Amino acid sequence: MKNSIFTKIINREIKSEIIDETEDLIVIKDISPQAPIHFLIIPKKQFENISAMECGDEIYGAKIFLMAKKLSEKIPGEKDFKLIINNGKLAGQCVFHMHAHFLAGF
Ligand code: AMP
Repeated sequence: MKNSIFTKIINREIKSEIIDETEDLIVIKDISPQAPIHFLIIPKKQFENISAMECGDEIYGAKIFLMAKKLSEKIPGEKDFKLIINNGKLAGQCVFHMHAHFLAGF
């Protein structure tokens, strides 16, 4: 499998603004923000999207939710946020490496 742009960011081959990082996830600022706060929560394991999940990948769902909670706790003021996953080209997915959009600061 060819390395995705997000794998290149994880490997520090491409620069990005890193907000948080754990053993399994990286959180970066979206390069084209659609809200005052727009982060991408990305599993370090490269798989295309929810449709491509295999047995064992379900942990990323929980890890993404908990990372969203952690990120929301750092937002000054209102803690409300949206978590969006585009699954497939027709749903607007452009980067085929699983990720969730964290949008806040409304
Ligand atoms: P999606 O349409 O759900 O696949 O979202 C892909 C997102 O990745 C878009 O919101 C892009 O703005 C964002 N993006 C693409 N390249 C980069 C990059 N190098 N650094 C940060 N965000 C990026």
